[in-house]
Amino acid sequence: MKPTSYPHLLAPLNLGFTTLRNRVLMGSMHTGLEDRAKNYPRLAAYFRERAEGGVGLMVTGGMAPTIRGWLAPLASSMVSKRQLPRHRLVTEAVHGAGGKICMQILHAGRYGYHPFVVSSSDQKSPISPFRPRALSARGVEREIAGFVRAARLAREAGYDGVEIMGSEGYLINQFTTAHVNDRDDQWGGSSAARYRIAEEIVQRVREAVGADFIIIYRLSMLDLLPDGNDWSEVVAQARAVEAAGASIINTGIGWHEARIPTIATMVPRGAFSFVTAQLKGQVALPLVATNRINTPQVAEDVLARGDADMVSMARPLLADPEFVNKASHNEAHRINTCIACNQACLDHTFKNQIASCLVNPRACHETELNYRPAAQRRTVAVVGAGPAGLACSTVAAERGHEVTLFDQEPAIGGQFNLARSIPGKEEFDETIRYFEQRLADTGVQLALGQRVEPETLQGFDEIVLATGVHPREPGIPGIDHPKVLSYLDVLKHGAEVGERVAIIGAGGIGFDVADYLAHDPEHASSSLSAEAFAREWGIDRSLEARGGVAGVTAEPVPACREITLLQRKDSKPGKGLGKTTGWVHRLNLKRRGIQALSGVSYERIDDAGLHIQRNGQSEVLDVDHVIVCAGQLSNRDLASQLDDRGVVHHLIGGAFEARELDAKHAIRQGSELAAGF
Ligand code: FAD
Ligand code: NAP
Ligand code: SF4
Repeated sequence: MKPTSYPHLLAPLNLGFTTLRNRVLMGSMHTGLEDRAKNYPRLAAYFRERAEGGVGLMVTGGMAPTIRGWLAPLASSMVSKRQLPRHRLVTEAVHGAGGKICMQILHAGRYGYHPFVVSSSDQKSPISPFRPRALSARGVEREIAGFVRAARLAREAGYDGVEIMGSEGYLINQFTTAHVNDRDDQWGGSSAARYRIAEEIVQRVREAVGADFIIIYRLSMLDLLPDGNDWSEVVAQARAVEAAGASIINTGIGWHEARIPTIATMVPRGAFSFVTAQLKGQVALPLVATNRINTPQVAEDVLARGDADMVSMARPLLADPEFVNKASHNEAHRINTCIACNQACLDHTFKNQIASCLVNPRACHETELNYRPAAQRRTVAVVGAGPAGLACSTVAAERGHEVTLFDQEPAIGGQFNLARSIPGKEEFDETIRYFEQRLADTGVQLALGQRVEPETLQGFDEIVLATGVHPREPGIPGIDHPKVLSYLDVLKHGAEVGERVAIIGAGGIGFDVADYLAHDPEHASSSLSAEAFAREWGIDRSLEARGGVAGVTAEPVPACREITLLQRKDSKPGKGLGKTTGWVHRLNLKRRGIQALSGVSYERIDDAGLHIQRNGQSEVLDVDHVIVCAGQLSNRDLASQLDDRGVVHHLIGGAFEARELDAKHAIRQGSELAAGF
């Protein structure tokens, strides 16, 4: 067997009383399945698959130690023995597959979305409407006792350990920094008094669970708030939890209320491992690096450089449960890579929906969506090699069908080829790379550069049309003026674009095109280095600034054009963008000086520019080009021709429904259809 390409990643880690089989920690993710007892069989199946996939150590979604610590009403908790049987389903499934799992204890504090919230003070957080009650000294003791009880119950349920959540702005963090903690009792005032809660929790948990139980402490190493902790306070806290009995220190980057992206797709890979590296040598415990580590090579590099002893990957293991096994067989090219879009994971969680994954719709649906061998082998024609057609053809072929995938273009990918040209969306390349490999592995016959007509489809048992979408042309007078371009002209055909631009339509594509045009073309598609990212967002990589940001000026990022983004709706432009990433896009455009106008009506386009009405006034935007990003319409010509001939077919992706279409729907629909042939 060839030696592994990832010796550091795959090396076991000896914790003294137990050994982890490799250096991969699956970071905690709230999937929504933890919240209801009836979903624990699904949760167990989800974790079992990842244990079978070779992960060294997994961490569950956060369980509240008291009802005051709930994330939301009746959200996941560990407060009573009655909850043990459901947790045992999880621990037994994981152990049966040779894995290890810790339960995360998360007290939401003022981030809780319910009326019982408590915190170190009564200061409301900007991301929850509920004002917290400031805990009394007795109240603090009661919450600490909750952590201890939860840990004891976790041990009884069969977990290998617990992770104590001390970062991301949750309760413990609300004590450890002066940002929220204005107390002058034994739990506030000095830095040591502020982090005493962490120390007490770890120490009392250790006393309760014994020596042979993993305690991970998730330490907020970079608050990304001007009144967050300074580096000496972070180190002091790390030493305190080490002395109190922690086994591993995991890295937390940024509070949820901080306005610096930490995991979105435009954050460079491994951009924050320098923070963990700074703690190396300050404590003896194994340290875990985190954030935007999504390939075995990035993980290996972090470990080989000595930045950390383990890497935490959360979303990458939603995207591909077999990540570790594939890495250990030197098959990184077969990994379905997380593109950090957040569209089906965090965006779902924040909308109270069960999480999944855009590139892997089976994630958290392992008991429901399965690709079993087909009872009868059939011939299947799939027209369109965009995300919908790629998912459908590879699942159908995996199940044993004989599949031919057609596309009129010379390459696969459909609109993903446009998405990946947007600065900061280079990760979308990985999905195309994954599908290219998957087509080969499953034996799909590829017919590229072939525009399909009804005759081409004769003789197939199943016909699937995944023909996608084309841009909507709004009925504005002058829409055929030479100043007018579609997003396809710009992104696909490389049309020259002038200095002053108006963009009609402020949806996902309008925002992306604005960002594309704002960038200097020479650097448009090269991703930022971690250093450049830090300069652009005002992060001090020397860690001298309090919270990593105090007093640091973000480097100006002016657009290389004058751009105005328009929509007819009165709402805030970009309101419909992803729940957890929309703010990044809006802030990004604002920082580039791009103007966004709502409530406009379009009158006409002529040599003078784009004529609009706004607030009852007429205006002319004197622009060189008007770019149309006004949504899409389904490509249904082929479907209509087949209908006319009475040929039965399936429609998926954009061809099925163009409104509110995205790749998440396209891939899921393609996979679900093929699972049922
Ligand atoms: P398409 O991707 O449109 O694929 C259809 C394919 O069918 C094409 O390759 C076409 O050539 C082929 N075809 C059509 N007719 C025929 C025929 N008669 N014969 C042969 N071949 C034919 N979505 C997200 O979820 N997240 C994002 O961040 C995101 N960003 C985007 C950024 C941009 C700039 C753009 C343009 C889109 C973005 N999208 C994003 C949208 C996403 O790419 C689409 O929702 C998705 O590609 C739709 O998939 P599909 O397979 O239905 O159609
Ligand atoms: P979209 O998000 O629906 O936006 C279409 C825009 O066009 C809206 O701003 C709409 O605003 C405007 N519009 C609609 N009809 C119009 C008309 N007749 N005349 C003038 N303007 C009109 O669609 P999209 O931007 O084309 O994106 C397509 C899909 O790709 C989306 O579903 C999105 O999820 C996905 N996508 C996602 C991302 C991401 O970052 N997550 C990025 C790109 C694309 P008004 O009606 O108010 O004018
Ligand atoms: Fe990664 Fe997007 Fe999947 Fe979330 S939905 S795991 S961010 S690919």
